[in-house]
Amino acid sequence: MIRIREAVVAGPFYPAGVAALLLAVSMLAASLTAADDAARFAAERAVLVDELAAYGRLEPPPGKPGFDERVLRALREVERHRFVPQDVQAEAYANRPLPIGHGQTISQPYIVALMTELVAPRPGDRVLEIGTGSGYQAAVLAKLVDAVYSIEIIEPLAQQAQERLARLGYDNVSTRLGDGYFGWEEQAPFDAIVVTAAASHVPPPLIAQLKPGGRMVIPVGGRFAVQYLLLVEKTAAGEIVTRQVTAVRFVPLTGEH
Ligand code: SAM
Repeated sequence: MIRIREAVVAGPFYPAGVAALLLAVSMLAASLTAADDAARFAAERAVLVDELAAYGRLEPPPGKPGFDERVLRALREVERHRFVPQDVQAEAYANRPLPIGHGQTISQPYIVALMTELVAPRPGDRVLEIGTGSGYQAAVLAKLVDAVYSIEIIEPLAQQAQERLARLGYDNVSTRLGDGYFGWEEQAPFDAIVVTAAASHVPPPLIAQLKPGGRMVIPVGGRFAVQYLLLVEKTAAGEIVTRQVTAVRFVPLTGEH
């Protein structure tokens, strides 16, 4: 009696040769689907980056003719679909922000390109990012500089981003949980700082952690008020020069600071 019930639960029984064949067919089908997805995502990514290059020429970042080819190459290489939840993966290469859970978003690709361009990342640079989120902006920066340090205040996001970046091989990115308002003193000074959440003012600890000659890009403004993307430069003499780039909309910089 018990044996009959076991046979029913186990489902159809195939001779070993047939079972192996069925397994091989299903593995082949899965790998063909994965290859299909990869090719489709790569094609969509190429179209998106071409679009960004065109926007960049139309509304060039201050003092530039368009987006630098190195920045565009980084965006061509980083697979945005791997940084978003499964249920929005099909929209990964639309030029818009997407939800990543916990009320947060992965930024619009155009904004990622613009912020990256504005800090003029160079090989050898050490860059601080505030607001790791999905890890996508950190991955883009990691293609362009020596080392990226990124801080996230929401624990599950920090954890997921750390695992994702490690799994995808971004081994020049270090992440940590914390309030980015205070920067990362132990790793300072930085050649560039990218803040990806809107602050009410430019945090003094971040200014202090910027090298002379360094650049910071930060959205400043209230949650329901107009926010502006600011480019903050520290001259070689240590003087701070701030320029307003464009109106933007970011989630707020939170924390007890
Ligand atoms: N850079 C992210 C990406 O590529 O996915 C997008 C960042 S999302 C627009 C802003 C992020 O900043 C959120 O994940 C949010 O939790 C984080 N954040 C907000 N306040 C913060 C703070 N004080 N310190 C560190 N992270 C903060």
